[in-house]
Amino acid sequence: MSMQLAPASPDVAQLLAQAEALYLPQCELSLPLAEQAAHLAATLGDEAGEAAALWLWGRCLNVLQGGEAAQPVLRRALTMATHLDNAFARARANHALAEALASGGDDSRALSHWLDCLEDALSTQQIGLFIEATLGLGNLYVIHEDHENAFRYHTIASDFSRLHDNQDLRAKAALHLAADLIKLDRLPVAESVLRRAQQDLILPLRRDWLAEIHNYLGAIALRQNQFDAAREHLEQAYQINLDTGLMWGQIVNLTGLGKLLLRSGDGQTAERYLLQALKAVEKLHAPHLVQDIHEQLALLYEQRGDDVRAVMHYIGFHEHYMQRVNQGVAGKLAQLSSRRLANLEIRLRLLGSEFELNRLREANRETDLRVQALQDAAYRDALTGVMNRRALDESLPGMIEAAQQTGEALSMLVLDFDHFKLINDRWSHQVGDQVLRTGATVLQASLREHDLAARYGGEEFVLVLRNTALDLARNVAERIRARVETEAWHHIERGLQATVSVGVAQWQSAESAGAWFSRADAALYDAKRRGRNRVSVAGADR
Ligand code: GH3
Ligand code: MG
Ligand code: MG
Repeated sequence: MSMQLAPASPDVAQLLAQAEALYLPQCELSLPLAEQAAHLAATLGDEAGEAAALWLWGRCLNVLQGGEAAQPVLRRALTMATHLDNAFARARANHALAEALASGGDDSRALSHWLDCLEDALSTQQIGLFIEATLGLGNLYVIHEDHENAFRYHTIASDFSRLHDNQDLRAKAALHLAADLIKLDRLPVAESVLRRAQQDLILPLRRDWLAEIHNYLGAIALRQNQFDAAREHLEQAYQINLDTGLMWGQIVNLTGLGKLLLRSGDGQTAERYLLQALKAVEKLHAPHLVQDIHEQLALLYEQRGDDVRAVMHYIGFHEHYMQRVNQGVAGKLAQLSSRRLANLEIRLRLLGSEFELNRLREANRETDLRVQALQDAAYRDALTGVMNRRALDESLPGMIEAAQQTGEALSMLVLDFDHFKLINDRWSHQVGDQVLRTGATVLQASLREHDLAARYGGEEFVLVLRNTALDLARNVAERIRARVETEAWHHIERGLQATVSVGVAQWQSAESAGAWFSRADAALYDAKRRGRNRVSVAGADR
C-alpha cells in the first residue's frame, strides 16, 4: 500500500536513523545530523534519502527556529517527494510544511497543504498522518476563533487516534480538544480530558506536552479566578519549556503569566513577563502570539494611565489583527469546507468504520454493540450522533447475555429533558435541536468506552453502563444531571436553561430488556412527579 521511502545509500540511512532517534529528546542534536544527511544524499544522488533528510531537517528547524526558517527546506522536501511520485513522502512533507506555514501565520497556504496531505494520507491509509492533518485543520479554526469548528475537527482526530490505538496521538488529540473546550467554557470537561491526556503521555519524551497540560490547567484555574493554582501551573509549564528549550511554549507561558499577574493586580511583574515575551517572539514569526502580547500590554498601560504606551501597543495589536483579517482565511475556510472538506470527511468516516470493524473483528467480540452500530449509518441518530433506538434495541439482548454469562452488573439510565416543549415554544425548534445536541455531548463525555448512549426518541435518551451496579449508576446519573444543569446554556441563547430527569435501574438476573427498561422508565416518571431535575432509582421489581 503506502511505499515507505528508504534511502539508497547506507551512510545516509545511518545518519538519518541517528537524527530520527534524537529528534524528540534533543532536537538541537538532531538538526546538524539531518542537515548533513541531506547534503550527503544530494552529493550521492540518493533522491529518496535526500527527501527524507530534508523532511527531518525542516521539522527540526521548525521547532528550533520557527516556521519561516523551516519553509524553504520543507518545500524542497515536498518537491523531491513529488518528483519521486511517492505519496507517503508527499503526505508527510505536506503536513510538515503546513505546520511551518501555520506557525508562521500563513493560514491559507497551510490549509491547502493540509488538504493535500489528507488526500495522500487517505489514499495510502496513513492514519497517523491524517490524524495530524485533521488536528492541524482544527488549529486553523482555533486561530480564527471558530472554536466550534475547531472542536469538530479535533473530535474527528481524537476518534481516529483511539481507533488506531496510537497512544502518542491520543494524547496530542486530547490536548487539542482540551484547548477547544476551555475556549468554549466547558471547564470541567476540559479538565477531565486533560487528565486523560496525562495518562497517555509518553514521558520523558513528551515533556513538552506535559508543559502544555500545565499551561491549560493554568488557563482553567485562571478562568475560575484561582490565581495561586493558575500561577503554579503556569510556572511549572514555563520551567519545563525552559528545560526543553521550547521557545514557542516559553512565550505562551510568559504571556499567560503576564495575563494572570495583570488580573491579580501585580502590574509590575506582569509588565516584566510580557516585555520578555515580546522580545522573545521577535525571533519567531508568529503574528497571533504577537497580537496576544500587544493586547495584554495595551491593557496594562491603559490601567496604569500611561496612554502613550497603551496606544503604541494597541496599534501593535491592531496591525497584527488586521493582517490576519485581511488574509480572509476564515471565509476561505468556510468555502473550502463545503466542497473539498465535505468530500474528505465522508471518506474519513467510511475509513473509520472500516477500521473499527476490522479491529473489533480481530478482537473477536461479536457481543460488542459497536460492530453492529458502525456497520450502517442507520444505527446513528442524525441530529445528535449518538446511537439511535434501533441500535439500542439490537444491542440490549447481547449486552444482557454477556452480563448473564460473566455475572457483571449492568445498569440503565433513562433521561428525559424537562419541559422541553417550553424550550421549543419559548426559543425555537432550532434552539431545541441545539439543546439536544449539547445534551448528547454531555452524555458522551460521561461515558466509558464500552458504555452505550442512545437517543430513544424525541428528547429522551438511554444510557447502558457496563460493569456498573446500582449505587455507582446513581452517582453517574447524578453527575450527568448536575452537568446538564450547569452547562453553559446561555451560550446558545441568553437566558436559556435546561435540565433533565433521570430514572436508574440495575438489570436483574433473567430479566428481559423490555421489563428492565420499564422499571427505569417508571423511575424516570417518579423523578418527574417529584418535581423534575432529579434522579430516581428503581426498586427491585414492580
Ligand atoms: P416533561 O418535563 O414532562 O418531560 O415535559 P416535556 O415538555 O419535555 O415533555 P413532552 O413529552 O410533552 O414534550 C416533548 C417535546 O419534545 C415535544 C416535541 O415537540 C419535542 N421534541 C421531540 N423531538 C424533538 C426534536 O428532535 N427537536 C426538537 N426541537 N424538539 C423535539
Ligand atoms: Mg421531557
Ligand atoms: Mg419525553
